[in-house]
Amino acid sequence: MAEPIIGIDLGTTFSCVACWDEKTNKVEVIESASGRTCPSWVSFTKEGKLVGTAAKSQVASNPKNTVYDVKRIIGRSFSDPVTAEECKNFPFDVVEGSAHGEPKIVVDWRGERKELRPEEISAFVLAELKGAAERHLGKEVKSAVITVPAHFNNQQRQATKDAGRIAGLDVKRIINEPTAAALSYGLHSKNDKEGAGDKSKKANVVIFDLGGGTFDVSVLAMDEGVFEVKATGGDTHLGGEDFDNTVLAWCLEQIKAKNSDVHKKLQDNPRAMSRLRRAVENAKRAISSGMSTELEVDSLIADFDFSVTLDRAKFEELNAALFKRCIDTVKEVLDDAQCSIDDVTDLVLVGGSTRIPCIQSSLYNMFGGKIELCKSVHPDEAVAHGAAVQGHILATGGSGGGKDLAGAEMTTDLLLLDVTPLSLGIELEGKQMSTLIKRNTPIPCKKTRTYTTVDDWQTEIDVVVFEGERPHVDANNKLGSFVISGVQRARAGEPKVDVTFALDANGILNVSARDQVTGAEARAEIKAEKGRLTSDDIDKMIADAERYRAQDEELAEKTAYKTALEEALFTVQSKVAESNKPNEVKELADLMDWLELDSDTATFDDMKKRGRVIEDTWGFIVA
Ligand code: AMP
Repeated sequence: MAEPIIGIDLGTTFSCVACWDEKTNKVEVIESASGRTCPSWVSFTKEGKLVGTAAKSQVASNPKNTVYDVKRIIGRSFSDPVTAEECKNFPFDVVEGSAHGEPKIVVDWRGERKELRPEEISAFVLAELKGAAERHLGKEVKSAVITVPAHFNNQQRQATKDAGRIAGLDVKRIINEPTAAALSYGLHSKNDKEGAGDKSKKANVVIFDLGGGTFDVSVLAMDEGVFEVKATGGDTHLGGEDFDNTVLAWCLEQIKAKNSDVHKKLQDNPRAMSRLRRAVENAKRAISSGMSTELEVDSLIADFDFSVTLDRAKFEELNAALFKRCIDTVKEVLDDAQCSIDDVTDLVLVGGSTRIPCIQSSLYNMFGGKIELCKSVHPDEAVAHGAAVQGHILATGGSGGGKDLAGAEMTTDLLLLDVTPLSLGIELEGKQMSTLIKRNTPIPCKKTRTYTTVDDWQTEIDVVVFEGERPHVDANNKLGSFVISGVQRARAGEPKVDVTFALDANGILNVSARDQVTGAEARAEIKAEKGRLTSDDIDKMIADAERYRAQDEELAEKTAYKTALEEALFTVQSKVAESNKPNEVKELADLMDWLELDSDTATFDDMKKRGRVIEDTWGFIVA
């Protein structure tokens, strides 16, 4: 049996892992302790580290050490304006690493100040998913395919690959998220079948990916198993959380109108705000299937119970402008791709927020109802699903078979290819960009061009590598540089130096230069100019993770119990208010005091003791 290669969607807000199941011959999404999707959150405490839902539950009580959204800064330098902009929104601190100018997240972990790179945070999420896959498969998992947004550059891909290595994974392939989503629907083989005898027939696939915090639209052209990204667009700050925010603001207005004192107190009570936010999100999910729901939070502040009816019409009214932005973006990206609505053959929905009926119907109307929305694969899981399809193809070397979840025959003899998202080249005199590999070239690929010197008797050349589409290198992204010495000593323009760019299947670049006459040679694996992790760094990080594994598992269990305990207490609170029995009122007051003042430092045994009190007094089982 082939060694498994799992597929991981390492998302901004959620991640997901899937693998090929030899028994059922299809892709299975694997449950972690957080469920089928795992929040990409890591929280650091005095006792250890939490990942996923357990980490997210710490946001109110431990905001400075609860880290999320690192995908927004992974592979970027600290001085990148995007990093500065993103850091403004983070409740945790980010500083500039002293060695390489990379961003470092500052946390208090086991009572010590630690500075961690975004790659390390992502590695904790990946390790959690690797562990889940190992439990599911009953064996060690060593390899993975990990997805990244189509617009990720070389550094961001490299950093994602490093995150995989820190998590103990050999990252066999980095693939684009929209490509993975298309794979999950078997669209790579569909064209082959439908176009049998007509190889010129191309599929044009629109991938509409609306997640928790990001929105991506991609147009892919598929030709003989190669996906070419024609255009991408979207908004790095638009998603389900924005829809939650509009509803939350509306709830706060209602609360203010009913009781301005409660409204005021809410602002200083992160625990109550996070309970309200959770109720809002649940209500939003509920009205994707029903027409209306009661949004309720018992004892939101002291004995104030909040309740309001949320229906679809209200939800759509509150979010009309945001929904319109999403639909307008599809039109813009289609224009960029020079693809008309009639040319589109498939529309794939990805991301939890595509379950919103108004989004689905707007898309359906936009395409005149002519094409079916591909939504049979769970939208939160489509990307991981496609990554697992790619993993299976790599693991079996094309000899595997079977059907994917969408029912399409897997074309496992096809080596799936991706394309490079940005053009790659070197700097010439006058800061001109000389492109060797054009964007959208299928990878892996290799290109050589011959260059010469600009000064007489010059024996050294600086090879400075950039990615980007602009003719002037200052507007592009510098990837790195190296020097070739021993160039033929001759008049300017006479030496001939071959520069070769080899881009591997992960989109990672190797550059070499060779003088045709002297044979002098220099080469470099082009990684981020600054802030690359060395193998030693990575090995140390792997060892640290191993050392603390057992404690972290215990902490996760304890935290889940504490969340359940908290929920139980809030539920019991309304019961006690109704019955008003003095002994129960006293018992509850003691428990609430303990929760407020002592629960953060309580031992697991102490927590279980309180859980038993709740069970004995109110028959409410804390689990
Ligand atoms: P993702 O990052 O793709 O997993 O998307 C998560 C986002 O999808 C969150 O904002 C969720 O609130 C949202 N979501 C999940 N299920 C639903 C649903 N049934 N209706 C509306 N939004 C949903």
